[in-house]
Amino acid sequence: MSDNQETIVMAAPMLNYQCNLKGCCCKGWGIPFKPEGVARLAGAMPADEAKERLNWGMEFFVNDKQEIERIELARLPPDDRCRFLEPEGQCEIHRRFGTDALPDLCINFPAVPYHTGQTIELHYEAVCPSVLDQLADPTVPYMPTALSAQEHPEIAIRARRPNKRPVMHLGQAQLQWPQMETLRNTVLTSLQDLQRPAIEHLCAISYAFGRLRQHGDPQRFEIRYDEPPEPFYDFLNTCAHAHSGLALIQLWPAFKRFVWDFDRDDPKLEHLEHWLDHWEEPLERWMIGQEPALRPLLVRFLAHRYFSAFVEVRGELIFAYGSIPHAHALALRVAAALSGALERPTDVGIMKAALGFADYIYRGLKIPVSSLPWFEPPEADTGAQ
Ligand code: SF4
Repeated sequence: MSDNQETIVMAAPMLNYQCNLKGCCCKGWGIPFKPEGVARLAGAMPADEAKERLNWGMEFFVNDKQEIERIELARLPPDDRCRFLEPEGQCEIHRRFGTDALPDLCINFPAVPYHTGQTIELHYEAVCPSVLDQLADPTVPYMPTALSAQEHPEIAIRARRPNKRPVMHLGQAQLQWPQMETLRNTVLTSLQDLQRPAIEHLCAISYAFGRLRQHGDPQRFEIRYDEPPEPFYDFLNTCAHAHSGLALIQLWPAFKRFVWDFDRDDPKLEHLEHWLDHWEEPLERWMIGQEPALRPLLVRFLAHRYFSAFVEVRGELIFAYGSIPHAHALALRVAAALSGALERPTDVGIMKAALGFADYIYRGLKIPVSSLPWFEPPEADTGAQ
């Protein structure tokens, strides 16, 4: 690790992160190993065993230069699991050969390391239920913390091979990393206020970024809470309607393995598709009154998303802030639909599942965020000079 990789920046609550050891991220989806990760895995095993266990069911994906970008290993029935995942949920490679034998993704997940130029940042993916557990517990304020890689080897191992950060554009403005950090700290400082509903925070932050996209001057970035909310709420409503119930219900089976707070196979969830199309009624009936209890999780989830600025799409890092209102709106819709189907008020467990599902759709499935509309403040409220 070189000098400038000795400081790791991460969100303070993630210092308490611990995997639930239930194997939920090792099944149900294509696991994109890098070629060197597969080579490391093969090298750890006796040669005969490596030949027998790796010499079948390998799918190679190449980039524009015809270089192998990733390898996916055929998964096993009945639950589409990695061939090395043991029935009790433990990884056989980890158990037999230790952490160093694992592909990077298996060591890092749910953290993704990024090089900022000065430090390595670790961003944690909220599809992981143990990440959501940390967001639901407001004990540790959601702010960045810097730590020494030497003093935290268990965290430094996740930061060993960082991604390069991308160029960040906001409308006309191209942001340098120090500017980006300042903007982000302004947002995170606002989000320390857990007394204010998440939707008011999101409205004020969306106005602030909307104005920045128009005037392009990071020094004039300002989060205010006095702008008319209606245009933003109209935008959020459009975001919530972006997917059909049919499209969402087709993605739910692959996601639900991350749900541990309620019975994900409850027969009542057979009607989930109906409620995904008719979510306004359970939103009124089951969710609105629960907002104070859900507020810390929702506000801290926003902080988590604004802390994690990037998402990887087809091997390229994309600046991801444009997707945050979309994911928030979708999470509210899904939580309302889950409450409608389960016939009970939206609690923190339901909201965690909904936030994880929205994160899975907007980050896990890697929808190109450049294709999503951003909130545009009405001209009169831009503050442009
Ligand atoms: S190799 Fe181990 S950690 Fe990696 S996906 Fe397979 S079971 Fe999970």
